[in-house]
Amino acid sequence: MTEGIIRIAKERVKPVLNQHPWIFSRAIISAQHARNGEFVTVTDPDGAFLARGYYNEKSQIQVRILTWKDEPLDEAWWQKSLARAINARLPLLKENTTVRLIHAESDYLPGLVVDVYGQYAVLQALTLGIERRKGQIARWLAETFNSLFPERPLLGIYERSDVDVRGKEGLKASTGVLWGETPPNPILVQENGITFAVDVYKGHKTGFYIDQRPNRASLAQALQSVQNPSILNLFAYTGGFGVSALKGLPGASLVNVDSSADSLNLARQNVEHNGIALDAVSFVTSDCFEFLRQAVHQLPMYDAVVCDPPKFAQNAQQVDKAARGYKDLNMHAFQLVKAGGLLMTFSCSGAISRDLFQKIVFGALVDSGRQAQIIGHLGAGEDHPIALTFPEGDYLKGLLLRVY
Ligand code: SAH
Repeated sequence: MTEGIIRIAKERVKPVLNQHPWIFSRAIISAQHARNGEFVTVTDPDGAFLARGYYNEKSQIQVRILTWKDEPLDEAWWQKSLARAINARLPLLKENTTVRLIHAESDYLPGLVVDVYGQYAVLQALTLGIERRKGQIARWLAETFNSLFPERPLLGIYERSDVDVRGKEGLKASTGVLWGETPPNPILVQENGITFAVDVYKGHKTGFYIDQRPNRASLAQALQSVQNPSILNLFAYTGGFGVSALKGLPGASLVNVDSSADSLNLARQNVEHNGIALDAVSFVTSDCFEFLRQAVHQLPMYDAVVCDPPKFAQNAQQVDKAARGYKDLNMHAFQLVKAGGLLMTFSCSGAISRDLFQKIVFGALVDSGRQAQIIGHLGAGEDHPIALTFPEGDYLKGLLLRVY
């Protein structure tokens, strides 16, 4: 089978030389023998080699680059690429049983996400190029992982490719066992010494917000010196921030708010799994905007408020509306923090830059009539790296603020 050749326009060559992994349809001047989902060679207008990747004319991103070297994308290449990503996570895997193993474009494997939960992995195939190869990739991944980390070998790999972005590639949702055994439900995992129950079948993303690991630890750390702290965990999901903060702080109290009763049910189990007394914890099934509007008229105020909403801006067109949402939330959140207390606030919208997020939080602060200092700039954990050549990968940004 002859490999397809994609020639790109002269003015589009530089980003490829700069190792940006995406080639959009408008950059392409000709596509010879290119087949959807198959490998193609990318060349400059004169036919000189630039890169190699996979093709999908149904997507706006028609080529995703896998290598900038003129090398075959054979089994050895995949094994080597998977091993590179896994090796970088070995220190984390020794301390935690839930870790992101493969972070797509930022691990030079566009379209492929793999997360580990105990002895199971969950794989997402976000593009046609990965979809076509997912069975093989799962086998290679299991082999590579089990040889590099025999202490806790994988028993099964489950697919959770039920995400909207697949529609842009012309793909429908797909879930099921890809390799080995069927995972139990829930799977109990350990993060920073805390036990969490994860539902890999119905949970958000692949089951858990693994990206928040360092921030959950920072919150717990920041509260160590506070006597009997009270914590408000907005958008609590399965209780990650709250449980982390409460563990080891006997006098602490916690209010978890989330619109999903199922998520709060798991949050309750997570409180119990960690031997925390349930009477110090409450679970409020509510819209957080509603909750805040009510709460600002009543006491109590909190020693720490965590605000970790879902992605408000799916794309650049939604940035203004999202900004209003973040501002409203943070304005109310500031008002609920005791003088000298903490606000830990996040945006996971890729379309909102760090700079813009800080400006929005500044606007919220001014409207709240409070004062605040930045004591930490936050992002995703080290198992969610950001390739310097792919700034789009910097989706999770947060601020830890001391509020007066
Ligand atoms: N902080 C969590 C992750 C939060 S994910 C952790 O560390 O695990 C965002 C959560 O917000 C989801 O659980 C979702 O159910 C919830 N959610 C989305 N919109 C909401 C709204 N308007 N009000 C309350 N909760 C909402």
